[in-house]
Amino acid sequence: MAIDAIYFDGEYARDRAVTIAAQGSEIVFSGPDVPETRWSIAGLHPVDPPTSGQPFRVTHSSKPGARLVIRDEAFIRGLIDNHRHLRGGYSWAHLGQVAAWTGGGIVALAAIGYVLVSFLPQKVANILPDDWRNRVGDQVVNGLVNKARRCETPAGNAAKSAMIAVLAEGNPDLPPISMEVYDMQLVNAFAAPGGKIVFTRGILEKADKPEEIAGVLAHEIGHVAHRHPEVQLVRLTGLQVLISVMSGSNGGDITSNIAALATLLQYSREAEREADAFALETMQKASIDPMGLRTFFEKISKEEGGSSSSSGPASTFGKIGNIFSTHPGINDRIKNITPLPAGQVPVQVLTPEQWQALKTICAS
Ligand SMILES: [Zn+2]
Repeated sequence: MAIDAIYFDGEYARDRAVTIAAQGSEIVFSGPDVPETRWSIAGLHPVDPPTSGQPFRVTHSSKPGARLVIRDEAFIRGLIDNHRHLRGGYSWAHLGQVAAWTGGGIVALAAIGYVLVSFLPQKVANILPDDWRNRVGDQVVNGLVNKARRCETPAGNAAKSAMIAVLAEGNPDLPPISMEVYDMQLVNAFAAPGGKIVFTRGILEKADKPEEIAGVLAHEIGHVAHRHPEVQLVRLTGLQVLISVMSGSNGGDITSNIAALATLLQYSREAEREADAFALETMQKASIDPMGLRTFFEKISKEEGGSSSSSGPASTFGKIGNIFSTHPGINDRIKNITPLPAGQVPVQVLTPEQWQALKTICAS
């Protein structure tokens, strides 16, 4: 039996009519502009618990931002009677608790927030308070580096500051960032919410000159400037983000509830293009030779067997994966990285001593 429902894909604030039917362990739905989609019932999550007389909203682990809104009571009953896990979820009672902690008006705010979170992740990411971005960013970093040592030496820290200062030359509008190095072998760099940029020891060891690391840093600052980590987090966690923001809780639930924290860092190719474009422009304004980023990408891509896919070699690395898994399509992007215009003299990013101090920051 097929019944009518509404589908939001989580990307656009547009509802689409679909018909939906249960088929064995799956629900199947399609509509005039929705291709046939199969969601396993085991992967369904209620957005809030089913309540008589209310539409039942569910999302799916394969597409956390998407929502199906089902109004057919008989269909809802059939689903939840047979699948206990569909009875849970964030409840209005929970939001009520939040309201009790933080004062009135919160439920109304939550309702507005819910709409925002569901349909406009970029907008939500842009209005998240900085203290929240910082707290969640710390948790994301801690979760991803998994107790690895944070590397610090006075000379290494000075070299990091010098590199950031060179990038900021000619770029007064760079977003605030921090750059930390962790003692991890895998070759990667990533940006977490709150402008927290992490480099691994592995990526520093792989670099032959400061322009290469400056290029990767500029690329990660591009992710920060576009709020890509925050957008991804809002997409993946939806309403929980709002609850955390409003209740002032530390967001601990957020990162522990994400099945694979590393998916936070798996950006679309479009996001990578945006970060690359930002990096190129930033390096040009700062007179840093962008070919450093290019040679670095080429070097990694050669060593990893030229894979440009987001799987493959990445699976042999730790939870974060290597730079391929978190920065897809490097091979395709290399050709867009061009040298400084003729006549523009490149600056020296770091002195040889500073470069050595940065490369060996994990050695002590
Ligand atoms: Zn990237």
